[in-house]
This record gives sequence, structure tokens and C-alpha cells, in this order.
Amino acid sequence: MNVHGRAARRAVAIGGSMSGLFAAAFLRKIGWQVDVYERSPIELVGRGAGITTHPELLEALELSGAGTPRDLGIMVERRIAIDRKGRVIADKPYPQMLTSWDRLQRLLRDTLPPENYHLGWNFERAEQDGSEVVAHFSGGRRERADLLIGGDGIRSGVRAQVAPAIQPIYAGYYIWRGAPNESDLAPETLKTIFPHFVFYLPERQQVIGYPISGFDNDLRPGRRRYNFIWYRVGDAATLREMCVDQNGHQHEYSVPPPLIRRDLVAGLMAEAEQELPPAFLDTLRKIPQPFFTPIYDFTSPQMVFGRIILLGDAASSARPHMGFGVSKAGDDARALADALASHDDIDRALAHYQAVRAPISEKIMMHGRRLGTHLGVNLKTAEDRAMWKTLQDYRAMMDWIAVPNFLAA
Ligand SMILES: Cc1cc2nc3c(=O)[nH]c(=O)nc-3n(C[C@H](O)[C@H](O)[C@H](O)COP(=O)(O)OP(=O)(O)OC[C@H]3O[C@@H](n4cnc5c(N)ncnc54)[C@H](O)[C@@H]3O)c2cc1C
Repeated sequence: MNVHGRAARRAVAIGGSMSGLFAAAFLRKIGWQVDVYERSPIELVGRGAGITTHPELLEALELSGAGTPRDLGIMVERRIAIDRKGRVIADKPYPQMLTSWDRLQRLLRDTLPPENYHLGWNFERAEQDGSEVVAHFSGGRRERADLLIGGDGIRSGVRAQVAPAIQPIYAGYYIWRGAPNESDLAPETLKTIFPHFVFYLPERQQVIGYPISGFDNDLRPGRRRYNFIWYRVGDAATLREMCVDQNGHQHEYSVPPPLIRRDLVAGLMAEAEQELPPAFLDTLRKIPQPFFTPIYDFTSPQMVFGRIILLGDAASSARPHMGFGVSKAGDDARALADALASHDDIDRALAHYQAVRAPISEKIMMHGRRLGTHLGVNLKTAEDRAMWKTLQDYRAMMDWIAVPNFLAA
């Protein structure tokens, strides 16, 4: 029996990243029994990505029981914009906590007993009969539950089963990224850009950098890293060509970093010599293996399919200009738990979850598109062009990119 005096209900969450873990943490708080199934056979570590935080994320961490420890990340105090020569052309006090994917995953993972987190389980399909779901995994394993949560990311296999027509849309641009060690950076780089959230904004490009923790969440000076992101425009044909790997194999969406063609990286470095300010050039040179990520977005208007629901990136994914994806995953999970706690009937609770989260997901995605107009791709409406114009001013970019409370605006 749980706190409501009824037999504990059970959820199966597919995906052991942010969504699966947030869902598990929030549902356990309201007395559900939750198991998380992750297809990776090994612990999800070393993704190395920087994550900007928002008040929603900090609140979700607190309410889910993960907590917001003092060593969550690095507090930057200022945003600066620099020109091609590295001169500061704008400077704005803007305190913001920057953390990393690894750190958040560790915190959330600690909310769950180890026996409820299962590595090496690949979801294949589910069947349901109106009050129960059975999830089938590779190798013939199966799990029965009251609810199946698809938290398996932008290429969700759960979504592929329930809403196969919903596909992520390529934005027409991609990023080169990486996070070199602080200790490898030149003294001048450490002095000029390392402590700050930095923008360099040539036409139809964005270079953004900020400090994040080092290996194993090390926050000590000298042990941190600098998150580097370079947005480049490239059409679908260009992307397809980039997705041919070092061995000549064509990948569909992106290429695992060790397999990225050496001629692509050589081309990137040659362009960087011509285009980047010295400190960003130094940063890029110190990345052992820069890799690219194509930018996609989409939203699924339907998030609930009987007893199967979509959550986080599986339900919708915005372009990363707001740095809000993990916050959204936390808010989706929180809304799901609130709905289940306030409705005895699971199906009514899920209808409520859908009614609350679908419009917000759409709003977040559209906001990402507005910010993406800076890159000048596919500007269709007068509104797009007006936004593009606004964002040509680097001070506007500093005011709009990855800022808190954008949903309230
Ligand atoms: C360039 C870039 C920058 C970003 N910056 C930020 C930022 O600053 N702040 C922020 O909040 N967000 C940011 N995001 C977004 C953020 O990374 C995502 O929103 C977040 O990781 C979504 O979490 P998720 O758990 O829904 O999906 P994912 O993190 O993609 O996890 C899905 C999990 O499901 C597992 N899985 C997949 N298929 C199966 C299967 N069949 N069976 C079992 N398991 C499966 C995968 O292995 C994976 O572990 C950024 C994204 C990008 C691309």
C-alpha cells in the first residue's frame, strides 16, 4: 500500500537519461514503483555536454529529491561579446549557473535504488489492453506496468511505435562542439574568455563558450573545462555528406565522434584559422576530438496513447538556443506526477498531463525557432525576418540566448 492507501502502481520508464530519471524520481515521490530501462549496457558517462540551468530546472531538482548541491556547477557572473580580434564589444553582468549533463545524471541517478535502474535493456515494442502495458525488450524480456513512459530521447523508439509519422525536422544548421580542459588552454584564453559566458557572432554563425566542471565534476581551478559551440549553416545535402564516416559508411543522423572524417576536421580547423578570434581558436585547437551535432526540432501534439506516454525529448525537442531541454524534461515529469497525484483515475490524469504539457512544448519549440532566425535559414514570414533583424545586434543575442524565464515573456 502507498500513502494513498492503494496498492502501489507501477511505471516502466524507457531511457536512463534525464527524462527517465526525472520521471522515476517524481513518481516515486507520490508512491509509485518505477523501474528505468536504459539500452546502453554501460553507465551513461562522459557525454561531456554543458547544460545551462534555469529556475525551472533547479526547482525540479529540488522537488524530485535530487537536490541542488552547492557544487552543482560553475557560476558565471558576466556575459561578454567579442569581435574577430577578441576585443570586448559588449559586457553585461548576468549571473548564471552552468552545469553539465554528467553532473545532473549522477544526481538524478542517486534518487533511485540501484535495483530499479537497468542497463542493457533495449526497448522494442509495447502492447496494452486498456489498463496495463507490457514492454518488450531485446532478448525476449518483458515487463508489465500500469504506465509506460517513453523517455528515450529525440529518436524515441516508443514514439516510433505510437506516432510513427512524427519526425524531427532538420533546422538547416549544425554545431561543432567540444569541451577542452582548462589546463590545456593558453594563459590569454584563460584570462580573456574562460570565466565568462562568451558570444562571437559573425554573420550567419554563432560561437558560444562557457566554463563547465571537469572530469568527475571537478570544480577546482585548473581542473575545469570550457564548453565550445560553433553554429554553422549547412543544407540537408551538406549534412548527408558530413555523415559519411572515416570508413566511408553513411550514417543517418550524425557520426560517432571517433569516426568523424579527418578531412572534415581539417576543413573545420582551416576555416577556424580564418574566422575565429584568437581565444576561441585556441579553445577549438585544444579539443582532442571536435564533433558535430545537427540541430533538429519537432513537437508531438499527442503525448498520451492509452497507457503509453511521451516525456522530454521523446515528446518534443526544441533547438538548443534556450538551453532548456533538461528543464523541460523535469517539468514534464513534475506535471505527470502532479496529475497522477490529483486524479485517482490514471487515464484522466494522463489526459490532464497532455492538456497541460502539449501547448507548452509547442511554445518552447516555436521560441527556439525564433531564436534560430539569427542564422538566416529559411526565413518564411515577416515575423521571421523581423526577428532575424533584431538578432543581428549582438546585444539582443546576449539578452535572448539561454536566458531564464523566457516562457513568461
Ligand atoms: C547541442 C545541444 C545543446 C544542449 N544544451 C542544453 C542546455 O544547455 N541545457 C539544457 O537543459 N538542455 C540542453 N540540451 C538538450 C538536452 O540535452 C536534452 O533535452 C536532454 O538530454 C533530453 O533528455 P532525455 O532524457 O529526454 O533524452 P536523452 O538525453 O536523449 O536520453 C534518452 C535515453 O534513452 C535511451 N534510449 C534510446 N532508445 C532506447 C531504447 N530503445 N531502449 C532503452 N533506452 C533507450 C538512450 O540511450 C538515452 O540514454 C542541448 C541539446 C543539444 C543537442
